[in-house]
Amino acid sequence: MHAQGAAFQPPPMKDVIVIGGGPGGSTAATLLARKGFSVTLLERERFPRFQIGESLLPYNNDLFARLGVADQLAAGEFHPKYGAEFLTGDGEIRVRFHFDSNLEERYHRSFQVERAEFDHLLLRNAASHGVDVREGTGVASIDLDDPNRAVVKCANGEQLEARFVIDASGHGSIVGQRVGMKSDIEGLKKIAIFSHYRNVQRPEGRDAGNTVIVVLRDAWFWLIPITAEVMSVGLVVDKDHLKSCGLTAEELLARTIDGSPHVANVMQSAERTSQVYVRKDFSFRMKRLVGPNYALVGDAAGFLDPIFSTGVFMAMQSADMAATAVEARLRHGSMRPLRRYQGTLQKALDKYLRFINGFYRPEFLEVFMQPRPNHGLVKVIVGILAGNVFARRRDRGGLALFFLLVRLQKWRGMIAPRIEWERQPGAASV
Ligand SMILES: Cc1cc2nc3c(=O)[nH]c(=O)nc-3n(C[C@H](O)[C@H](O)[C@H](O)COP(=O)(O)OP(=O)(O)OC[C@H]3O[C@@H](n4cnc5c(N)ncnc54)[C@H](O)[C@@H]3O)c2cc1C
Repeated sequence: MHAQGAAFQPPPMKDVIVIGGGPGGSTAATLLARKGFSVTLLERERFPRFQIGESLLPYNNDLFARLGVADQLAAGEFHPKYGAEFLTGDGEIRVRFHFDSNLEERYHRSFQVERAEFDHLLLRNAASHGVDVREGTGVASIDLDDPNRAVVKCANGEQLEARFVIDASGHGSIVGQRVGMKSDIEGLKKIAIFSHYRNVQRPEGRDAGNTVIVVLRDAWFWLIPITAEVMSVGLVVDKDHLKSCGLTAEELLARTIDGSPHVANVMQSAERTSQVYVRKDFSFRMKRLVGPNYALVGDAAGFLDPIFSTGVFMAMQSADMAATAVEARLRHGSMRPLRRYQGTLQKALDKYLRFINGFYRPEFLEVFMQPRPNHGLVKVIVGILAGNVFARRRDRGGLALFFLLVRLQKWRGMIAPRIEWERQPGAASV
């Protein structure tokens, strides 16, 4: 009810509405607010809230600095990460990659994070830059018919308008579902089953913060130390395997841990400290990422696979690129930077997809897990593990060589010793 005589004033049109307060949404909102635009961010949940995706990449460090959160990240709450380790299930073949072996000093360290805390830090940072952050406000529908504005209807009945909307709503991709032309990714129909544990043994010293990936015959584990005490442990396996094995997800996780010598060994005194979570259908891409009044960023634009821990990095990098393109659109009416954003992001996803598809093939793993120093492969691998995916021309030679050697390995097995995958433990079966 309005005071008598006072005419109802609709809320003034904002420049930008961002849907979703994960790393993609917070980053886009902060950067656009810093460029002088009025920004409202609508987040369905109240933070802190649980999210998976706990291992960050060092090539995000420059963006953390620009957002003004680098010091808070380094202040001690988050676990430093200096590299990653890959092992076969029996523990016989093991390789460690360190970021300081090939990268500039500012990329020598990244972080393992509890996402609830990390995402909250980024969201508070957005608010402190003037973003109108509204938690507990889910978006129910969007009208994009007028190319110069977007009308957003919230689940609470409120209606908001903006000149532009950024969809950072994660894999639900509320705008993308309508306009993005979604496709699943052949060969990546996986399921992830994961939980948090105390008392998991970890490597000594600086390597204690490494991501550890244990590769089985037909599945893989991640072990990510998110605090000094807590380890995130997850199993990734073909979705059909869970359907056909007759076990619950929790049983499959427990049985596969017990049947994998290395994981069983480091987890012999482990105590579970959270529920067991399950995520499936996480691999997909959107073909169209931009239009005159919208852009998709982060998982809303696509997510491939968790193996190289690229999700948060891609969410934040895409948000950064999109923010620049949206600025051009709003100031000069230009669509070209938005189209360039779409092309650049799709190319980076293509590059990761090549590595991800490779990871599920024996010849790739044989080269990847036994890289000969004289081939220069360590540099390529460390680059990929660090997030060097928006690479400059000069890095392309290394990638081409890597995949040539993988082909030679498949053909003749002449690049690295064959690994007897059939003797490696598999995901538990009954
Ligand atoms: C099994 C698994 C393991 C992973 N491991 C890693 C890893 O180690 N490292 C890594 O970097 N990434 C990892 N990822 C990927 C990572 O989880 C995502 O890429 C990352 O969270 C994407 O960030 P985002 O901001 O795009 O989306 P999200 O983090 O999903 O944030 C989206 C936000 O939008 C909100 N939202 C959704 N719908 C609406 C709506 N209608 N209205 C308002 N708000 C809405 C949600 O509540 C959420 O807060 C993993 C993913 C999976 C599935």
